[in-house]
Amino acid sequence: MRRKSKSGIWIRKVWRAIGTMKTVISPLKEECLLCKKISVLQSRQMALCNSCYEYIPWIRDVHCLTCGRSVRCADCQRRQLTYFSKSRSAVKYDDRMKELLARYKYRGDERIKSVIGCMLVHAYHLLYMEELSEKSNPKRGIITFVPVSKLRMQERGFNQAEQMARELGLRLRLPVQALLQRAKHTDKQSFKSRNERLDDLEHVFEVDLSVAYQIDLKSIDVIILLDDVYTTGSTMNQCAKVLRENFSAEVYGLTWAR
Ligand SMILES: [Zn+2]
Ligand SMILES: [Zn+2]
Repeated sequence: MRRKSKSGIWIRKVWRAIGTMKTVISPLKEECLLCKKISVLQSRQMALCNSCYEYIPWIRDVHCLTCGRSVRCADCQRRQLTYFSKSRSAVKYDDRMKELLARYKYRGDERIKSVIGCMLVHAYHLLYMEELSEKSNPKRGIITFVPVSKLRMQERGFNQAEQMARELGLRLRLPVQALLQRAKHTDKQSFKSRNERLDDLEHVFEVDLSVAYQIDLKSIDVIILLDDVYTTGSTMNQCAKVLRENFSAEVYGLTWAR
């Protein structure tokens, strides 16, 4: 009887060991950040399952060389003066990407910022392939971002463009500086006409001199201006204008979606 129970203990021990080995050998199942299904993740860094990863609407073919759009673009043709040299975006802003951003921006799911950070590296490569590698010396860059108003900051608790800039900065090992600030609060952009928006945006952004004085801007060739979504390009253009008025560096735009 005693011998039997001893062998029982051994059998249990062996099974437990096999179980441990199985979990070590078999890939870990985790929750996909997009569809919430528990499965083996395609990319651990992005925490997306296979089908969600396959789905990402990457921008690969750039048709508008100014804003990086994958289709023909009237906004850039209509614009009188463009202050950024060019802008590139990682993904098309379709319904699923809208949902992803909404979960991050309005429902505060901050894990999504690392997914977006990974995607931004793709946008940077689009920029880098065409522009930054043209000269033999790599350009010395700094990342900055479109600021939000104090009111918006209080509502949301964070600036998504800033967080995206910092995620990208970490991955590229580039410094991130808050060079811009908002001079006044602007109403929600989406309810306004194009001309109203452009009028509103004049004088909204200014350089934060307390930050700008701290860095040696003469040693910087490029300022990469980051925003979450590029819509018409007017926000990007106004921010770039202010940067160009204050610094001699070239300004490139980079957004997550377009
Ligand atoms: Zn998924
Ligand atoms: Zn364009």
